Amino acid sequence: MFWRPDDLRVFEYDAGFDRHPPIAVVVPGTAEEIGACVKAASRAGIAVVPRGAGTGLSGGTIACGGALVIATSRLRRILAIDAVGQTALVEPGVPNLQISAAAREAGLFFAPDPASQRVSTIGGNIGTNAGGPHALRYGSIVNHVLGIEMVLPDGEIAVFGGCTADLPGYDCVPFIVGSEGTLGIVTKAWVRLLPVPEDTRTFVALFHDVESGARAASEIIARGIVPAAMEMLDRTTIQAVNAAFDAHLPEEAGSLLLVEVEGLREETQAAASAIVAVCEARGAFGVRTAATPAERELLWKARKLGYPALARIRPNNYLHDAVVPRSKLPEVLAKVNAIADRYGYVIANMFHIGDGNLHPVLLFDGAVEPIERVMEASAEILKVAIDAGGTLSGEHGIGLEKNHFMFWVFGPEDLEAMQRARSAFDPNGMMNPGKIFPGGSICADIPTERIKRGLAEGMWV
Ligand SMILES: Cc1cc2nc3c(=O)[nH]c(=O)nc-3n(C[C@H](O)[C@H](O)[C@H](O)COP(=O)(O)OP(=O)(O)OC[C@H]3O[C@@H](n4cnc5c(N)ncnc54)[C@H](O)[C@@H]3O)c2cc1C
Repeated sequence: MFWRPDDLRVFEYDAGFDRHPPIAVVVPGTAEEIGACVKAASRAGIAVVPRGAGTGLSGGTIACGGALVIATSRLRRILAIDAVGQTALVEPGVPNLQISAAAREAGLFFAPDPASQRVSTIGGNIGTNAGGPHALRYGSIVNHVLGIEMVLPDGEIAVFGGCTADLPGYDCVPFIVGSEGTLGIVTKAWVRLLPVPEDTRTFVALFHDVESGARAASEIIARGIVPAAMEMLDRTTIQAVNAAFDAHLPEEAGSLLLVEVEGLREETQAAASAIVAVCEARGAFGVRTAATPAERELLWKARKLGYPALARIRPNNYLHDAVVPRSKLPEVLAKVNAIADRYGYVIANMFHIGDGNLHPVLLFDGAVEPIERVMEASAEILKVAIDAGGTLSGEHGIGLEKNHFMFWVFGPEDLEAMQRARSAFDPNGMMNPGKIFPGGSICADIPTERIKRGLAEGMWV
């Protein structure tokens, strides 16, 4: 257990803006030990916050209101890979990428691939219903979790679902996925594995502007082709990547579309030809295809280096996570960029264009620019997305960051119904209080220091 102020410092923040120290941190080694900690906390009337790797971007792990953090970093075992049933049984502290590494020998992989997958844990991925570039074809993590073992708020251990799909009765698994630690602490998960595709093709198409790239992306999907991933970088990001890492991307490009298709060889060949034809018809002035896995890695590198490269432009950034209907992308992007211009912020866009999950990044210098103004611009950006029929979060969750905007997308009756469903698990509201739902005074002790630094090389969103 950690309780000294210096030890608690590393647990007072995640990758989002907010920070606050917990009263203590425990790092149990088994589900039973987690249960015992939760029981003790419950008896003492102390709230509990589950924590995985702490890479969350919405403040879900911030222990406001004098809470105890229960970290899962000692539960890191892959308990079973079932090659025939194509499932894995894993503990919550296993980093996402390790599942695919362990399954590869059986010719299988774990499809959900948040960009943080080297470090972010399965428990955290389940907590946030994580997505990633390949969510376009495979869906987010909710589509890949079959069963969950969870410590309930009274410390008892319960199992929902299991290693087979479609069990009878109410299916609580999708309700738990994305609940941001407000229902209990996941201690095991049965996840679905998929066969490694026979063929993967990756290419980039360069456009003079964002609008042409966005229209090409929409048309690809409208033709019934579902790429495995479809990502976009705008000019600011391309220039930042060149400046920071000598990536030699064409500086005249206004946008870059990175597309990947997977499947049977005949299928990928046909899809790739159709996609290249759409891009060229929409004004792409260059299409580069990866001929080898190494070249594929190189193409992905431009995407992966985008986020850290932005630190060259301004030391601080605010990364958004709104989702908009694909058909509205060009118009929403134009409005988002206009908001940034009006406020005088540099804005960079690199995002999962295939599923409309925007990641506009406002770049600023926290030493001289007040964070309140950044938040004001950010609220306008969210509003534009919602007015276009979109929503608050595509993958990062609501947490503390966006709980006060929940009224924009849900009426009081919806929120009340969600609270009632939550209360069936946690009647006293002691599991990660203050998150997701607006209002309440639990997290009123969060200070206003909400500054985020640029991220190091190798981290991407
Ligand atoms: C550089 C970077 C790139 C990123 N890219 C992506 C991306 O592509 N897609 C994406 O979806 N996200 C992305 N994220 C956000 C983040 O990595 C994900 O939200 C991830 O799922 C969090 O996992 P974690 O282990 O760090 O969880 P934490 O941050 O520790 O926790 C996240 C939430 O889950 C809850 N939680 C954690 N463990 C458990 C458990 N065992 N039981 C119940 N609840 C639990 C916590 O209480 C909290 O509410 C990125 C973050 C960074 C910093």
